[in-house]
Amino acid sequence: MARLAKQPSPFRCRTIVFQPKLTCSSSLLLLCCWLALLPSPEAHTIIERPSRPSPEDYRYQRALLASEESALAFGADIPLAGNEILVNNHLMDLKRDELEKGYTNPFNFSPARHFFEVLDQINASPLFRFVRELPKGAVLHAHDTALASTEVIVKATYQPHLWQRGCFEHGRQPEFLFSRTKPTAPQRGNKHDDGDDDDDWELVQTVRERMGPARYDEHVRQLFSLYTPDPQTAYRSINDVWDRFSQIFLAFNPIVTYRPVWEFYFREALREFHEDNVLYLEFRGLLPTLYDLDGKTYGPEEVVQIYRTITEEFKATHPRFAGTKFIYAPLRLVDNQTMDQYLSLAERLHRLHGDYVVAFDLVGQEDLGRQLLDFVPQLLQLPASINFVFHAGETNWNGMPSDGNLFDAIMLGTKRIGHGYSLLKHPLLLEKVRQRNICVEINPVSNQVLRLVADHRNHPASVLFASDFPLVVSSDDPSFWRAAPLSHDFYMAFLGMTTVGQDLRVFKKLALNSIRYSLMSDREKEVALGKFQLAWDGFIDRKAEQLRASSRNEV
Ligand SMILES: [Zn+2]
Repeated sequence: MARLAKQPSPFRCRTIVFQPKLTCSSSLLLLCCWLALLPSPEAHTIIERPSRPSPEDYRYQRALLASEESALAFGADIPLAGNEILVNNHLMDLKRDELEKGYTNPFNFSPARHFFEVLDQINASPLFRFVRELPKGAVLHAHDTALASTEVIVKATYQPHLWQRGCFEHGRQPEFLFSRTKPTAPQRGNKHDDGDDDDDWELVQTVRERMGPARYDEHVRQLFSLYTPDPQTAYRSINDVWDRFSQIFLAFNPIVTYRPVWEFYFREALREFHEDNVLYLEFRGLLPTLYDLDGKTYGPEEVVQIYRTITEEFKATHPRFAGTKFIYAPLRLVDNQTMDQYLSLAERLHRLHGDYVVAFDLVGQEDLGRQLLDFVPQLLQLPASINFVFHAGETNWNGMPSDGNLFDAIMLGTKRIGHGYSLLKHPLLLEKVRQRNICVEINPVSNQVLRLVADHRNHPASVLFASDFPLVVSSDDPSFWRAAPLSHDFYMAFLGMTTVGQDLRVFKKLALNSIRYSLMSDREKEVALGKFQLAWDGFIDRKAEQLRASSRNEV
């Protein structure tokens, strides 16, 4: 036993003594022989091994392990105080309610189903309504022509001088153009099977009157959204979704690039983001050429100036809003010569609007587009003061060229990574992202609609949420899936990706991260933080008062 005492062990040890007892009569002879070989009659065998803990010890150790794990989780470092605790208890009741219903019947669990199939169910959820009211900080990943809802687009088609050619039926889509007189120049070829030109140009107003406004408007809604009640059949793979994206852009561009619509659309987008309690927007865009009825066109510098002017006007009337900034993000599927033009524009914008055009990125489907690696020599020529915030790893293809974009984004010094969906398959890169504090922009609904993931519980970000990882939640192209500017993505992340016990602190951390990892100046971040704190405190106090009032009424 002295020998046992010298052995260091985290477990208590005990000696187990086996006294041989043989009862079978047929073994009697064998037993006699065996006993004769033993050195003494009291001989026994000693087996030493670590003991198992008592059930009490076990429960204690388990609770310790669980609390160590939750202390590492995203949001665990955020303290909650006063009314926040009351509001948090309410939030957790709402979360547990949805989780328990889902646990009983997984078909009812919204994050496990396609977003389009459960959109009405989510909108009716008390948890979603809570999220909608919540001050959410900033959106750091969204695209210029997918910001405002389809209702804004419907309204835009009511503007005078809008013409269309072609109809909505038979799987085709019409072309649109604003013009004071009937367009004469042929637009995109829209031919019948026999090669003849399609219908003639007509004013939208005339077509709408003929079809009836309700029917016409419904067609517009369908045309400019990916929404369908049967998404599993309509979109069999990521390529089907990107094809539909291209169709939307083709039809939408001549509407939205009409300068009065462009301005109306951006104003309405800011209004909707503000209503969704987003206080700052850092969005990516292509800076397309705008046009008006007088034949005048507007280049990228003028488009940037339009963004700036509308933002300042909006801030003046909405003091809780902290502003917008722009990331120049042209298409990645271009030749080297076009890329050179993009990069020289990026430099020019940096010189002229460096405090507003804060970064460069490339957009378009990564699997079918050109890789960052193709453009490395050109990208390395850009001044170091131009930030990169690359889309990278928005793919399910492990080790294929699109997956390789993650290496280049990190090596090129990206400040944030758009999506980073495949990051978990690269533990070394994952560690570098964490060490270098590169923020990953998670877009839950987008990833599901683009068929990267079917069930949000399986989204790789659920692993990132288990630790204090530099991440934000954003919305990518919310209007294309009829989502709110940010609330649906917050809801999906909170309910589908975080663990049962993760609470209000997740939301507060997401909001704080969105300001911290934005490309605002330090001074601007301070102002934005002040606005967020004010909005947060106001929300918490209002909510706490509502909860107290409803519990008084119940009594
Ligand atoms: Zn994107």
